Amino acid sequence: MMWSGLGPSLVMLGFLLAPAGAPLVAIPIDNTPVAKGAAQCRAAEVGVQALGSGGPIAEGSRAGTSYALWVDGKARVLIDTGPGSFIRFGEAGLKVADLEAIAFSHFHADHSGGLSGILNTGSFEGGNAPLTIIGPEAASVFPGTRDFLAAQFGRGKGAWAYLHGYLDAGDGRRPLAVREIPAADAEQGPITRVEIAGGMVLQAIPVHHGPAPSLAYTVTVRGRTILFAGDQSAASSKFDRFTAALRPDLLIAHHVIPEGEGQPIGLHRSPQDIGRMAANIAPMRLLLSHHMDRSFSRLEEGLAAIAQHYSGTVTIASDGTCVTL
Ligand SMILES: [Zn+2]
Repeated sequence: MMWSGLGPSLVMLGFLLAPAGAPLVAIPIDNTPVAKGAAQCRAAEVGVQALGSGGPIAEGSRAGTSYALWVDGKARVLIDTGPGSFIRFGEAGLKVADLEAIAFSHFHADHSGGLSGILNTGSFEGGNAPLTIIGPEAASVFPGTRDFLAAQFGRGKGAWAYLHGYLDAGDGRRPLAVREIPAADAEQGPITRVEIAGGMVLQAIPVHHGPAPSLAYTVTVRGRTILFAGDQSAASSKFDRFTAALRPDLLIAHHVIPEGEGQPIGLHRSPQDIGRMAANIAPMRLLLSHHMDRSFSRLEEGLAAIAQHYSGTVTIASDGTCVTL
């Protein structure tokens, strides 16, 4: 396995004590601060920044899941807006006015709980160009994307109804253009293509994440393709078929569980399964994110399991990590 090629000034490498006689093993943890990562992404034609690299439990300094896709010096797309992404959004110097789209993988709170704060800050920026919101259709106990937004911003019934202008194009707020994507069938569901302003093409792929209707996304811009695998279990058969030999420039995989018995494999891929997934997809590089203490505390073991299947470059995300493409 090749470790991240990021320079030592940008990367704090963790070192583990190996058994006697064996070399020290460098763990490719990127600890770039958020503002510095934003400067790296801003200077690149295309970059992806982790705004939130954490999971559903409040642990350490990680925000809930969120990624920004930077193109030509501006963040143009957010994938997920987990709790805490609001403060990372500010640290990175992002503007809602620069966004063309926000896409949600699913509506667990650790992926979507930060939206109201981000749109609230956007209400101070003005603008009238539509902002595309992409997310799953309703299934099980989960609302569809329209109802998810209406419950927050709907006039008369939303928790923050004073922001209703996002839904009914009033008050000088950008109107939200909603695309609901079928996501309930991770075996046979459709692949949905969405064209986004700025020459970006998004494809939504249904994945299996327990009862939550969930989507992985590819976004292609300027000839680069990023695959946001999202939360998914190894039962994501449509995803596996669609992404075989896709060879994206970057695959972002979620490192939520360690190997072993008692782990929620009905919700997430084990490190072994992440390795198999990466081998099937063959990305140019792999970014591991959505860390929880239970997985991060066994990182070296997880990397070894991944390396049994995937030999490409791996970077371990912190909040702020930028990967330029
Ligand atoms: Zn999650």
